[in-house]
Amino acid sequence: MNDYAHHWQDGTPIHLGLGKIVCIGRNYAEHAAELNNSVPDTPLLFMKPSTSAVHLTRPVEIPKDRGEVHFETELAVLIGRPLTAASNEEARQAILGFGLALDLTLRDVQTQLKEKGQPWERAKAFDGACPLSPFVAAEKLPQPHLGFSLDIDGERRQTGDTSVLLNPVVPLLSYISHQFTLLPGDVVLTGTPKGVGPLQPGQILRLQLEDALTIETRVI
Ligand code: ZN
Repeated sequence: MNDYAHHWQDGTPIHLGLGKIVCIGRNYAEHAAELNNSVPDTPLLFMKPSTSAVHLTRPVEIPKDRGEVHFETELAVLIGRPLTAASNEEARQAILGFGLALDLTLRDVQTQLKEKGQPWERAKAFDGACPLSPFVAAEKLPQPHLGFSLDIDGERRQTGDTSVLLNPVVPLLSYISHQFTLLPGDVVLTGTPKGVGPLQPGQILRLQLEDALTIETRVI
């Protein structure tokens, strides 16, 4: 049974239920290029269900016998106010906190789905597909530009910087809210930088958001 619940970084619960996790594909040009994907002219949105969320502070359990499981390290935005057809200013005010997420992806399954022109849920929505960190209050971070990174076994593998997002955070939230409503407790993942690759049991992952949040965990 999934027991994920939002928390602040100091361990205090955030009393908002996780409804949905909205993700954007290909929001960093260099990541689109590494998978030989074109950059879409409108944001490529997909969702992970609440049942995919697990605590990133616990060991990351990856599926067996379903092909490669890729890590995608992403800035996660916690929504604090309802957003429907929102302006940029309304979207900015709705950001409650920032955290980090792994958008775990069954890459071989996704490649097959893409070839058939099918939706990506079988590759992206499985139980455990979205390890989420605790959140840092938005006002404690140096906005608008945030940096984050992933080290695996002591080696830097991904470096993200929201200043190079093709769709920056605030306009992205506004855009999503023109497609469907975002509710308090929803999370938006803002895309992965280049450097994605397969996870292996035993690896030690270290994720860092500015100097505000550090998570060390391992793959099992
Ligand atoms: Zn992703």
